[in-house]
Amino acid sequence: MKFNTKTIHGGQENIDPAYHSVMPPIYQTSTFKQEKIGQHPEFAYARSGNPTRAALEKSLASLENGTYGLAFGSGLAAIDAILKLLKPGDEVLCTNDLYGGSYRLFTKIYEDFGIKFRFVGMSDASKIGSFVNESTKLIWIETPTNPMMNIIDVAAVAQIAKRNKLLLAVDNTFATPYLQQPLDLGADIVMHSATKYLGGHSDVVMGALVVKDKALADRLYFIQNASGAVPGPQDCFLTLRGIKTLHVRMQRHCENGKAVAHFLKSHPKVDKVYWPGFEDHPNHNICSKQMTGYGGMVSFTTKTGARESAVQLVERLKVFTLAESLGGVESLAGHPATMTHASIPKEEREKTGIVDSLIRLSVGIEDIDDLIDDLKQALA
Ligand SMILES: *Cc1c(COP(=O)(O)O)cnc(C)c1O
Repeated sequence: MKFNTKTIHGGQENIDPAYHSVMPPIYQTSTFKQEKIGQHPEFAYARSGNPTRAALEKSLASLENGTYGLAFGSGLAAIDAILKLLKPGDEVLCTNDLYGGSYRLFTKIYEDFGIKFRFVGMSDASKIGSFVNESTKLIWIETPTNPMMNIIDVAAVAQIAKRNKLLLAVDNTFATPYLQQPLDLGADIVMHSATKYLGGHSDVVMGALVVKDKALADRLYFIQNASGAVPGPQDCFLTLRGIKTLHVRMQRHCENGKAVAHFLKSHPKVDKVYWPGFEDHPNHNICSKQMTGYGGMVSFTTKTGARESAVQLVERLKVFTLAESLGGVESLAGHPATMTHASIPKEEREKTGIVDSLIRLSVGIEDIDDLIDDLKQALA
């Protein structure tokens, strides 16, 4: 099955044996009647499993070319489950430019449990090997990174992980499986904040993991059930509904993202534009090799470099909404230094380029003329 068919049908055979509904029913129940003691029905208690969630989990597995999907109450709950594979003393090698909430979870929660995190630049994958030691257990990457749009060579990192018997987890939130399929590139775990493009309509908070390996899936399922950060059936339904149009939305996100990136690059008041589709992007070739498009996320700085001018610009936008988050049908604008990345100390932030004048756009699927006009008036 091709990807554009999988978004609609992947893993959705026989989702409603009772009435053959085309969309899975929302099983708003916490428990299921058991006929006899000692029988183990497929669904017994809704933390352990719910048919609506199962339909979503099968869809997720299909989209990422995995065998097992797991849905969580948020993207961070999904990351949290991965970290619970580790033990005190273990080390995680992670990108130095990552989602602020991931950084906070790593440094403010899991460091207290004795897990060590090393943040290193990974734009040049050949340098990663030198940071591996006998305590390293997991490599954590995000590509494209948030908000600097750095690209990491997933296949190259996967080789280093395999050679050293480490797990490789990829936060695929920005790319989505429409543009990039990390399991095919050798990753062990794909993670999503399905709150973003997969859900796609800014109406649900949801996380996901997809893996191929049965033993790893069993362990993660054990953690999902034992820790309990599961999503409710209504949210699973909404995410599944969002996924049905992922391919058409992503196609438009890519077109609009490209137009916005080129417009900004040609504007006299704009300084740097971060978008991996530019040929002078440092890892443009790797991006073109591992992704089938460049996505709808664009970051830029203004020439004044001042925090005030960035803040004013974002506040003047009318079609772009000033808001956290990304990946919905509507265009959003954010100021990473005070919003999504405020939990990262200023010195750490600036080392990776998240300066006070940086603005991040999640380019939606509105008419491109309206988006460009909006940016024009805000920059003027
Ligand atoms: C939003 C986001 C997360 C966290 O997901 P939530 O659903 O908000 O918990 C993780 N990684 C990236 C790249 C994100 O954009």
